[in-house]
Amino acid sequence: MTINKVLIVGAGIGGLAAAAALGQRGVEVDVVEIRETATVLGVGINQPGNSLRALRELGVLDEVLAAGFTFDGNDYRDADDERIVLVPSSLGQDDVPANCGLTRKDLHAILLKAAESAGATIQYGAEVADFSEDADGVDATFSNGENGRYDLVVAFDGIRSPMRRRVLGQELVPSYTGSAVWRKQVPRPASVTRTMLWQGEGVKGGVIPLSETHMYMLLVTVEPSDVRHPEQDLAPLLKQRLSGFKGLLGDIRDSLDEDPDGIVYSPLVEMNVPLPWHRGRVIVLGDAVHAAVPHLTQGAAMAVEDAVVLADELQRDRPLEESLQVIEQLRHPRTELVFQASHGILAQEQTITAETLPFAIDGMRAHLAEQTAHVEAVLNQPFRALQHQ
Ligand SMILES: Cc1cc2nc3c(=O)[nH]c(=O)nc-3n(C[C@H](O)[C@H](O)[C@H](O)COP(=O)(O)OP(=O)(O)OC[C@H]3O[C@@H](n4cnc5c(N)ncnc54)[C@H](O)[C@@H]3O)c2cc1C
Repeated sequence: MTINKVLIVGAGIGGLAAAAALGQRGVEVDVVEIRETATVLGVGINQPGNSLRALRELGVLDEVLAAGFTFDGNDYRDADDERIVLVPSSLGQDDVPANCGLTRKDLHAILLKAAESAGATIQYGAEVADFSEDADGVDATFSNGENGRYDLVVAFDGIRSPMRRRVLGQELVPSYTGSAVWRKQVPRPASVTRTMLWQGEGVKGGVIPLSETHMYMLLVTVEPSDVRHPEQDLAPLLKQRLSGFKGLLGDIRDSLDEDPDGIVYSPLVEMNVPLPWHRGRVIVLGDAVHAAVPHLTQGAAMAVEDAVVLADELQRDRPLEESLQVIEQLRHPRTELVFQASHGILAQEQTITAETLPFAIDGMRAHLAEQTAHVEAVLNQPFRALQHQ
């Protein structure tokens, strides 16, 4: 069947990527975004090689690489700043770099431009108020009084997705992992040329390069509940949690007295919805159905891959129901791998105590390169159906 007009709910990473991919294939795309303007929260984001391949399909690879900082893997250290193991990434290989860190603001601006250039129209400050489906389409009304009729509705409305609950089940709510992440953009010293991670007792810090001048610092800590801290408490609390680290993380901790602003604290929640992800003419994708903790930096990658596969498969000459099932079958093995592997890394880190830390470090030295290579070998495989390679 022919898909001529699509409604996308959510102008985040996946929604904008899908708007670009569909628009580039001649589909008319409307997007509704609940935020009032095209602003984006957050600090930086790494785009691993598989995501860079999906971004290349949208025609934005060069812009992403120009905005960001490319690098080849992860340098794991202990809290005293002694190297545990250097793990090169096997993502990317010959055609794209293994990784490219960039600011969320830059990635958003690039995807927004691609979506708008492909002809998508975006309504801000709007959400789906109601929708009903018949044999030929979906009628949607929006909270701003507008309405439209569509061949398909695609929800990319994030981990708290109202569309997921409406379409797939009210019981589908994300769960808090017991950990939170503290992030802050800081100047990049010339010595930081790849992701660096420092493993402490139940706490892991890191830096990811974002540009020639900046990087972002992250700290994952076990926190008792899904709490929010007042902004003025963030710097002293982060400083306290960084107290065990020497080297670069220690320097960043010491700089917080002079530069306490811009710290983002996010409880880590996750969501892994079993198939099917669609009902009738509405499909839910991205974090709304597969939000992994960020340990593999693969969340946006999975959303952008979703977008490209969606646009590919909707072009096929077959019934819509069949296409939606194929999309899910192509996507689920990869999102499940990312979810389980990321969840497993966090769960293991959470158990590390003073007594078990030396064993954990020995285990990292012995097995981390092999474990990383195993996951990356799968993610490095083509993510599109073979006819589209
Ligand atoms: C701390 C942290 C670090 C991360 N680091 C990385 C990384 O380095 N690399 C990586 O690949 N991924 C990373 N991720 C994951 C990545 O941010 C997400 O996987 C990605 O943003 C998912 O894209 P999405 O489009 O599904 O959702 P989002 O990007 O969250 O977009 C959802 C959009 O829907 C909108 N929306 C919500 N409700 C409605 C509604 N009712 N109506 C209309 N619009 C609505 C939202 O405002 C938002 O614009 C990280 C995540 C976290 C929490």
